[in-house]
Amino acid sequence: MILIINKLLLNKIYKTIKKYDEIVIARHVGPDPDAICSQIALRDSISLTFPEKKVYAVGVSVSKFKKFGSLNKPNYKEMTNPLLIVLDVPNMHRIDGIEDLKYTEILKIDHHPNDDIKARVDWTDINKSSTAQMVTELILNTKLKLNENIANNLFLGIVSDSERFSLKNTTYDTFDTVKELIKVSNIDFTSLYDILYTRPFSEHKFIAFITNNLVINENGLGYIKISDKDLKEFNVDVATPSNLINGYNFIDELLVWIFITEDVKNKQYKISIRSRGPIINTIANHYNGGGHKYASGAKLETMAEVDNLIKDLDTACKDYENK
Ligand code: AMP
Repeated sequence: MILIINKLLLNKIYKTIKKYDEIVIARHVGPDPDAICSQIALRDSISLTFPEKKVYAVGVSVSKFKKFGSLNKPNYKEMTNPLLIVLDVPNMHRIDGIEDLKYTEILKIDHHPNDDIKARVDWTDINKSSTAQMVTELILNTKLKLNENIANNLFLGIVSDSERFSLKNTTYDTFDTVKELIKVSNIDFTSLYDILYTRPFSEHKFIAFITNNLVINENGLGYIKISDKDLKEFNVDVATPSNLINGYNFIDELLVWIFITEDVKNKQYKISIRSRGPIINTIANHYNGGGHKYASGAKLETMAEVDNLIKDLDTACKDYENK
């Protein structure tokens, strides 16, 4: 169900895409399946609709996400008038892979609260389950084309960011868009869920490690500090805890939980926070981070900052319970 106002905006997005011969599609650093799948699906849909256009999905490749499709490494110097489409990211400094790109304009599609990206055409809707849902709505309501592969990627993005249709932004529209995707691709749910959720045994052992070491206090705040040594012991990378944190959504005693992961390479701590009640992105913003109301992140340089963040989240839990 697309409102008329959205229909106008979607047409504007379509017309902008139509206008450019060179299009670069970017997303946030440290991508998740929603970001990557949206990016690859939109690139493939534009290429299918307009085979003469040069369309690139850019940013660092992540080996475990190669199953969704490959990314491009275009030569920005050869571009004369490129459109930059940014997906699933509200902050300029977190857009991956566009450092040397001289774009003509930005078009943005995202479900995070906007930060500092200034796009002439901007479709931001924090009530959408995922950016993949928005890209699906764009395709379904314009002349952009869809095929089986594109539909599969969009489905994966939606499933992953809605945590299998369990998070608060899962709505009638989410299922409505998925219904259309199923029509096109006859989605093989079992194989697609395998792609998202099958993990090596070492990662399952790491989950057990997190479960055993998560500290949960009397206010419902849970936290764990994961060292580089821990990551090495379980043969997982610095992004893995963020990929696992949603799995702690159904623990009775937890209200807010935070995974703090040592990132030796970048000399910082990668922070992932989730909530089943208190709004956390306002707190993450204070620590130079951001995200959604109930799913946020940040990068911190010192353990003192980490401890302050833990304290603030603890206070948020206490206040929430008192209300
Ligand atoms: P993550 O825990 O990494 O899955 O991130 C949860 C949410 O917070 C996502 O919407 C991210 O885009 C956002 N986020 C993560 N890290 C940062 C950061 N350093 N700055 C702003 N937003 C972030």
